[in-house]
Amino acid sequence: MTMIDLILRNARLAGQQALTDLYIDDGMITAIGGGPGQPGPAQPGTAPPGTAQPGTAQPGFGDGSDAAAAQTIDLGGRLVTPPLVEPHIHLDAVLTVGQPRPNDSGSLFEGIAIWADRVAGLSYADVQSRVRQVLRWQLACGVQHVRSHVDVCDPGLTALRALIDLREEVRGMLDLQLVAFPQQGIFGFDGGVELMRRAAALGADVIGGIPHYELTREDGVESVKFALALAQDHGLAVDIHCDETDDDHSRFVEVMAAETIKRGMSGKVTASHTTAMHSYNGAYAYRVISNIARAGLHMVTNPLDNSVLQGRFDTGPVRRGLTRVKQLQEAGVNVCVGHDSVMDPWYPLGYGDPLQAAFVLVHLGQMSGDAELRRLIEMITVNPAAALGIADYGLRPGGSADLVVFDAPSEADALRLIAPRTLVLRRGKVVARATPARHTVTWLGAEEPVTFLRR
Ligand SMILES: [Zn+2]
Repeated sequence: MTMIDLILRNARLAGQQALTDLYIDDGMITAIGGGPGQPGPAQPGTAPPGTAQPGTAQPGFGDGSDAAAAQTIDLGGRLVTPPLVEPHIHLDAVLTVGQPRPNDSGSLFEGIAIWADRVAGLSYADVQSRVRQVLRWQLACGVQHVRSHVDVCDPGLTALRALIDLREEVRGMLDLQLVAFPQQGIFGFDGGVELMRRAAALGADVIGGIPHYELTREDGVESVKFALALAQDHGLAVDIHCDETDDDHSRFVEVMAAETIKRGMSGKVTASHTTAMHSYNGAYAYRVISNIARAGLHMVTNPLDNSVLQGRFDTGPVRRGLTRVKQLQEAGVNVCVGHDSVMDPWYPLGYGDPLQAAFVLVHLGQMSGDAELRRLIEMITVNPAAALGIADYGLRPGGSADLVVFDAPSEADALRLIAPRTLVLRRGKVVARATPARHTVTWLGAEEPVTFLRR
């Protein structure tokens, strides 16, 4: 009998009904299985998670896992997924809400004006301390891969330098990808082209853009071509803020698809936001979605920010501010959910939990169908993992023991409860754990425990 580091008992893997066990040794998943001889499934919500029971493993069942473990944890039927993946956040702006003044209207434009004032006081230490706090929040939510846009419209590239150094500091806990993001435009900002080139040389992982914010349609088209060419020269990926407007004439995603096809960059290019697509006429939307599928673009929708920022010029009905998620998925396009902002001039709420963003998309994207609820979990795990090009992702024997345990028995319950993550493993080690609040009610004179799970 072999002695291994850890057995996780009674896990419910995403997309599966039966409970199973995960065998972990030396940072790897060595086997997945369970079967005859294992105790009956515990009722979700009853067993305290993360409770170590040394030496209680019963060897010899399932999947050839003849092993005892230094530690065994009974998950009690809780949902287990690979790490959550955050494909779109602006870490350099996090936790600046109210600085130097609150956004009274809540609008995009007031937010941009406030950010211009705040960014003048940005320092290396200021960026790092705010980002460290939010990365800890994200890790507690089970996020282990983060792609952050970083404003490079700054001759000192202060935020990018601070984040490049932080990328090294956190490597054992989270993988950070940094996008050179020209918030003020590449051609519309003095020195923008040179700053993008310097950012690529300095160590950005991804090249960004904001074509709908350039001074003219022609500049916008050129900015997309510039971004893909720069990325290709440096062997980098592309992630462009594209058509983040309600203007149905904003059609830069078609340029992104065309350039991706012409340059053979399929799989390396992501279009974020694309909110104008919801206002395209049906014939045009059909054509552009076909080209997006052909180009192999990854798409990121950001329901938290865009639900409050878009539709501001509508007097009613007010548009919801999302891209055409379902139509894109029906065409076979990889669509991901991003968080976008955490307490900054554009969005005052959030704590970096992708599940919150997915919860909002259930409603605004009308994705309440049974299969759609499961798909939403994929949109914060496997889908963004593909967009970010993450190697060695997923729960499988031989794979890295990176995983997340939700205090819920199913994808639907995880969404319904925005369930706490009770356990987060990275390379087989516990990097986050939580003891969820337990509630009681006084019911007909007696105090009783309450669980929000259906009994
Ligand atoms: Zn964004």
